Amino acid sequence: MFNYLRDSVVARSLLLLSKRDRIKILIVALIQIFLGFLDLASVIIIGLLGALSISGVQSQGPGTKVKNVLDFLNISDNSFQYQCAALGIVAAGFLVIKTILSIFFIKKTLFFLANKASTLSSELFSRMLNQNLLQLQVKNSQEKLFAITEGVKLITGTVTDVSTSEIGIDKLTLSDGTEVTADLFVDCTGWKSMLLAGALKEPFKSYADILPSNRAWACQVPYVDKEKELEPYTNCTAIGHGWCWNIPLWTRLGTGYVYSDNFISPEDAKEEFKQYLMSDKMAVPRTQEQVDTLEFRDIPMRVGIHERTWVKNVVAIGLSAGFIEPLESNGLYSVHEFLLSLVSVLQRTHITQWDRDVYNSQVGGTFNTFAEFVSLHYALSIRDDTNFWDNITSKTFCPGIVDMSIKSTSNTFFDLAWRKLAVFRHNEQGGLQYVATGMHFHIMSKLQLLYAERAFRQNPKNEVDEFVRKRAILQKKWQRAAELCPSLYQYLKDNVHNDE
Ligand SMILES: Cc1cc2nc3c(=O)[nH]c(=O)nc-3n(C[C@H](O)[C@H](O)[C@H](O)COP(=O)(O)OP(=O)(O)OC[C@H]3O[C@@H](n4cnc5c(N)ncnc54)[C@H](O)[C@@H]3O)c2cc1C
Repeated sequence: MFNYLRDSVVARSLLLLSKRDRIKILIVALIQIFLGFLDLASVIIIGLLGALSISGVQSQGPGTKVKNVLDFLNISDNSFQYQCAALGIVAAGFLVIKTILSIFFIKKTLFFLANKASTLSSELFSRMLNQNLLQLQVKNSQEKLFAITEGVKLITGTVTDVSTSEIGIDKLTLSDGTEVTADLFVDCTGWKSMLLAGALKEPFKSYADILPSNRAWACQVPYVDKEKELEPYTNCTAIGHGWCWNIPLWTRLGTGYVYSDNFISPEDAKEEFKQYLMSDKMAVPRTQEQVDTLEFRDIPMRVGIHERTWVKNVVAIGLSAGFIEPLESNGLYSVHEFLLSLVSVLQRTHITQWDRDVYNSQVGGTFNTFAEFVSLHYALSIRDDTNFWDNITSKTFCPGIVDMSIKSTSNTFFDLAWRKLAVFRHNEQGGLQYVATGMHFHIMSKLQLLYAERAFRQNPKNEVDEFVRKRAILQKKWQRAAELCPSLYQYLKDNVHNDE
């Protein structure tokens, strides 16, 4: 019996929760039992009421059991009508209390379960990532489920020592002395890149020639007017020596200033950032007093990517592999893409150098393309009002953007843009042409239209006109839809954060 209970689904699910959460669930179960008793009590009282009514209709005194209850309630000497009314009120009172308590606890329970569901998902995911991936690959789904819930060992600790040999990493030693060996190590140690850069000394390829910013000030700003400031997009604004981001979250604004310390000192950059926070570039400009209460975090950035991100038995993913300034917010997306590439390569249960090379070429190419996209914002800039922008508009972005000595999936920017435009499906492609147009660089000139007409024996102008016409129709539809939509603030308030 004990074994049966221990192995039951409920008991095993409870093991996934912390002690505190288990106590909470026990309390919820007890409350549900109590509410059930309230229901039962109401039904019993209604039964008594029925018995009393029947006795009343028959002009008899109540039975012994009913009389005992009336005595208990101290109403046995009252009139029959009074007793009926009193029992009715008590029953109704129980039912009302039960209903109110049920609504309250069900709401709380649902919030608790929703939160727990996401915590459990990440817990299970982290357990899965702790599995030996090569073994996980050859398991069927039942085995994987078993591995996630039973067979995965989560080791939490700080890596203090890394032993290497010709296979790459031999073992990791944790601060408590535990030694960890594995077939494959995924280095997620952030900019420290403890395994790939630290232990295996893989060279780092900087993007400094195409991405000038190398530092950031970050700051969490409390809302002044949440409804107005919770804009449904990330706002990026170029200022003196770089650009600022505004990311509205439900509880606060995330802001930051990405700049280059080759052109301005961190202290002056901080001052410039404060001026930005007080300017009309913010939906609600902050006052000097408000800015003075804020905390600013200085973040030096290692911009670039390691020449190879999979070396021997180490795959670096995230900041340990590489970083591009967050103008395209591609950090987490890159992590996701790298993981998908890794999983896809690991489909082959036997890994050779070929697989590592394919992976490195794939993720390196993707990352370079991201870097080029971000770099275009600088390369096409027409600002020269500070030494930072002046340097950018006077420097040659070759190699990198123009002659692509950094190998990428594309050729020159112009060729890339032209190839995309040549098939006239530009709205299905990435944002290259939008960046270019925003920077007054018109990819589509009359000359190129003439060239296309000759090269593809089509009339590209008609296609462009048709595209513009369809776009205008779509724009009207989007406009109407947007007008019907609630504001982001209202939507989140009503549908997501309705507990506040
Ligand atoms: C200014 C800025 C703005 C950004 N904005 C965006 C954005 O808008 N969108 C986006 O998608 N991405 C953004 N990013 C990128 C995003 O923050 C990163 O891609 C992401 O946080 C990378 O996570 P990570 O796990 O690689 O590194 P980290 O978050 O740095 O995690 C590294 C972990 O390794 C642990 N560690 C280190 N050494 C040891 C050790 N010896 N033993 C055990 N553990 C160790 C650390 O404790 C830490 O938990 C931004 C980054 C910056 C700098």
